[in-house]
Amino acid sequence: MKKKIYLDYAASTPLDPKVLKEMMPYLKKEFGNPSSLHSFGQKARAAIEQSREKVARFLNSKPLEVVFTSSATEANNLAIRGIAENAQIKGKPHIITSLIEHESVLAPIQELEQEGKIEATYISSDSEGFVKAEDVVKSLKANTVLVSIMYANSEIGTIQPIAEIGQGIKELKEKNPSLKAVFHTDAVQAAQFLDCNVQKLNADLLTLSSHKVYGPKGAGTLYIKEGVSLNSLILGGGQEQGFRSGTENVAAIVGMGRALEEIQNPRTHIANIRIRQLRDKLIKGALSRIPNSFLTGSKTKRLENNVHLRFQGVEGKDLLLALDEKGIAVSTGSACSEKTQEPSRVLLALGLKLEEAASAIRITLGKYTKAEEVERFLKTLAPLVEKLRRQDV
Ligand SMILES: *Cc1c(COP(=O)(O)O)cnc(C)c1O
Repeated sequence: MKKKIYLDYAASTPLDPKVLKEMMPYLKKEFGNPSSLHSFGQKARAAIEQSREKVARFLNSKPLEVVFTSSATEANNLAIRGIAENAQIKGKPHIITSLIEHESVLAPIQELEQEGKIEATYISSDSEGFVKAEDVVKSLKANTVLVSIMYANSEIGTIQPIAEIGQGIKELKEKNPSLKAVFHTDAVQAAQFLDCNVQKLNADLLTLSSHKVYGPKGAGTLYIKEGVSLNSLILGGGQEQGFRSGTENVAAIVGMGRALEEIQNPRTHIANIRIRQLRDKLIKGALSRIPNSFLTGSKTKRLENNVHLRFQGVEGKDLLLALDEKGIAVSTGSACSEKTQEPSRVLLALGLKLEEAASAIRITLGKYTKAEEVERFLKTLAPLVEKLRRQDV
């Protein structure tokens, strides 16, 4: 059996050994509760605060503005519910988002809408998945409390003009000081590749996930700009400045800090250039070898590691399973919709037909991807697509 090939880095990344090493003491002898006053507790407390400083350096924020959660899903829920339920405005709070957000943004917004607690505007994107800054800014109203637009799309890799949206909202608020809108961006997929400086982005809230950047599962971050107030989802001992009660996952938090520190190392920049070259080789190789194949999203403004391809007459799910039999792991889009087996909501929002949306696979590369693996993927892909097409008729 040949070595397996993992090409699903957008779903989760392997743990970097440097990160694991930093976590180990907190899985073993440094087990204290960070809220305890004795030395066991204080060791754990210090580790959390050091990690918070690392995350703050990554975001160019203050450490106090970094709140650790259990996941990016929780951070997104905290941002959305926390702002909506804290809204101090006349009338119903209004939230602006896009049709192509992650489920962990859309689901809480839709639930708040169904509960009658908010009204929502869903901005559509163009066929490459771009949301226009202008469309977002002109949707702001007197009762808008939150704008949530993701930095880079997890399925098709399209990079949104987040700095431009942030600037537009800021300018509008300067003109109308009564506007209360807070700007949130889900930067989970962007973190490895794009500038997450919250000052430059003019973001008030920003979400990160540890296990998408070579850190462990079980840690996420919500950046909350000083002065922004929101309700917490989980009440109890008042950890994380009251924003997130519950004893901290010390080892995972330490790992998340170390993982984000690694992104700031120049070697990440070099690794990202290599990933982009492999990505371009993969796209060119697939499109040139396989007739009636298409790239979804933008050719230029897409994440360095994202490839999203469609093969006419092929079910993406069948191709995924056939590739898996050959030891190659890809995705049909988001891990969540793979389970429900529904056509990708994101792809339909781009204007693709049902059968087009069902014909897609997502291939995402990472820092451990080798050139030989891309070669072997391409060699395996073409005959499989051909075989599936023949079976279909
Ligand atoms: C994976 C992902 C999430 C959820 O992150 P978890 O930490 O797994 O909950 C949120 N947003 C985007 C864009 C993602 O890719």
